[in-house]
Amino acid sequence: LGGLADDLLDGLDRLREGAASAFDPTLRLGVTGLSGAGKTVFITSLVASLLDRNRMRLLGAEAEGRIEAAMLRPQPDPDVPRFAIENHLSALAATPPRWPESTRSVSQIRVAIRFRPGSWLSGLAGPATLNLDIVDYPGEWLLDLPLIEQEYDDWAAGALAAAQSPARRAHAAGWHKALAAAEPSAPHDEAVAEALAGAYRDYLFACRQAGLSALAPGRFLMPGDLAGSPALTFAPLPRPERGARGSLYAEMHDRFDAYRRVVAKPFFRNHFARLDRQVVLIDALGAVAGGPRALADLTATMSETLAAFRHGRPGWLDRVTGARRIDRILFVASKADHLHHAQHGRLARLVEAMLAEAARRAAFRGAKTRGMAIAAIRATAEQDVTEKGKRVGLVRGTRASDGHEVAIYPGALPEDPASLLAAAGGAMPGEAPASWPDMSYATFQFAPPRWPHGEGPPHLRLDQAVEFLIGDRLE
Ligand code: GDP
Repeated sequence: LGGLADDLLDGLDRLREGAASAFDPTLRLGVTGLSGAGKTVFITSLVASLLDRNRMRLLGAEAEGRIEAAMLRPQPDPDVPRFAIENHLSALAATPPRWPESTRSVSQIRVAIRFRPGSWLSGLAGPATLNLDIVDYPGEWLLDLPLIEQEYDDWAAGALAAAQSPARRAHAAGWHKALAAAEPSAPHDEAVAEALAGAYRDYLFACRQAGLSALAPGRFLMPGDLAGSPALTFAPLPRPERGARGSLYAEMHDRFDAYRRVVAKPFFRNHFARLDRQVVLIDALGAVAGGPRALADLTATMSETLAAFRHGRPGWLDRVTGARRIDRILFVASKADHLHHAQHGRLARLVEAMLAEAARRAAFRGAKTRGMAIAAIRATAEQDVTEKGKRVGLVRGTRASDGHEVAIYPGALPEDPASLLAAAGGAMPGEAPASWPDMSYATFQFAPPRWPHGEGPPHLRLDQAVEFLIGDRLE
């Protein structure tokens, strides 16, 4: 009889759980950033750290012992790929451990967090559950938002002008050659269109290689499942005197419109407009290592990113049914473990200074914003050595390329990192400010660490980031 009663109770429990989960509040957290910024590692660590919370002391609800359980639940959108958490965790647990495969498209995953509310009154109602839907998408796609409202001619004029800038001109040589050989008013020829689109894409890739980040259209760099499709086979052309129907120019014009309609707009409608909170990962150390132009470019990209989140978005986006308002945005430099902790404060201040500058340029207001320096997964330990009577802070870890244990000096950020921004803003073409720090070792590739099964991954301040992002919803 006992067994039967148990089964019955069990069934009732499940029924209750099922009924409750349909009404449980959800929070949709977007995670974005340019390729290589650390999205996949961040989400993998975030999910693993919520499931096994032994290293999450700065998450208030956890510190107060109010989180009862966290579990994966089927995600609500059947047409969106699931974030491949199991694959990513097994890459990290492999021998030797490997970093997971990076983001190429949009995916999502749901973690249900059962917690006791913080206040005595709401605590009377018993435990509550928050469904945290984490949405991973390439930052490159986000930068397409301004494109949606642009006409082909304006976009093309802007792209042609940008390619003349000192930072970019050298990378545009191949594309400019293809451009000179093409006649916009001539009848459309697919081979010419492909050559132009290919050369334009190569130019964008070369710019990215050089550390530049303001690169649209986003799908050219991160095509998702659209690689090679006509919607991606276009390029900017100057407006000819006569761009008659059937001309190369007219065809490019149409494809640009198609890109806006069938690629860019649906992404914003289906994913972006439904977010409540947003993490933007930035490779701030990589940008410092890349020099003044790369840092200035990343700051400009942050400004564009903020513009996408600005209240008073384009009318069509606000009219999307169910469009929400993002009320918290966190910018994180996510590889702080590449620096000795003595420098973490400087990195955080640099991110804050970049954010302040980006917000100023975007005339941003509305959401609560913050900048932080964290390591989603900490791959290094620290080592202090004394050289010529001076203490030097090194970081030690396993070199990704050959598995050797190495200690490196990553370079030093200045005491006042805002001065870097000022220097980057004022840097004359071709001329690096005299005091620019050599941070080339800060982008060193370490292999991921091992950690005990059943524990969350080692990290730096991931719990603090999570507190900012969802802490108030666990009250
Ligand atoms: P995505 O393109 O934004 O998805 O970037 P990934 O998450 O795949 O990260 C790209 C690479 O950056 C990884 O393969 C790691 O080499 C490195 N990385 C990312 N996050 C961390 C981190 O927290 N610590 C360290 N040491 N390296 C990281």
